[in-house]
Amino acid sequence: MYLEVKDMKKSYGENESYVQVLKGITTGVEQGEMCVIQGASGSGKSTFLNCIGGLDTLDSGSIKVDGKEIFGLKPDKLCDYRRDNLGFIFQFYNLIPNLTVKENIQVCEYLSKQPLDINELLETLGLTEHQNKLPSQLSGGQQQRCAIARALVKNPKLLLCDEPTGALDSKTSRDILILLEKINQKYGTTMLIVTHNNAIKDMVHKVIVIKDGEISKEYENDVRVPAAELEDL
Ligand code: ADP
Ligand code: MG
Repeated sequence: MYLEVKDMKKSYGENESYVQVLKGITTGVEQGEMCVIQGASGSGKSTFLNCIGGLDTLDSGSIKVDGKEIFGLKPDKLCDYRRDNLGFIFQFYNLIPNLTVKENIQVCEYLSKQPLDINELLETLGLTEHQNKLPSQLSGGQQQRCAIARALVKNPKLLLCDEPTGALDSKTSRDILILLEKINQKYGTTMLIVTHNNAIKDMVHKVIVIKDGEISKEYENDVRVPAAELEDL
């Protein structure tokens, strides 16, 4: 098991404002699997992803990535963990506005031990002709492709995606999903994809549904539908 989560608990606030967001989540994802995390708004999906990504800390439990415990790591070790293992993709791209497409990707390249070839990545993501543009000169889909390139340049073993198609129309969403599928096949990247979009569940290996901070349903797809053939995206 590449990712192993045991009895993960997380709360925010104190006294009247105390909320227990994750109430003891136990699950796992195999290396090379694409996994969708579904659930209503406020059910704890982003909190779950952020704890795995070391952007937030859990109260108790265990998160093992590639056999290594994340819970309780000191900030500098947590930083190493993120840098060496993870790529992040968010709903609103989070690109650096005054850097070009290529420069946004280079920022991450400099931080990586064995980066992928940037020109090849630009080509794979259809960004070669846009590489010298600023984010503000790109469409939403192009900005998300740039964010994906930035996340991928360090060839992360684990890609964490929080609503990656949340701000995109259905055609652009499909293009992004086809790209994620291609990357999963090419590099064997393990992916956790938080999404509201119900159609995406059919293209991945595994589905986890979170309800009120607990897993309400969890299954593997016997047959997967390629992103290009998903209906009602
Ligand atoms: P989802 O991504 O499924 O919509 P979240 O994980 O963002 O849900 O949030 C789950 C719950 O935790 C919500 O009720 C939200 O208000 C609360 N929450 C999330 N982050 C914080 C925070 N930093 N401080 C207080 N409450 C938070
Ligand atoms: Mg969220």
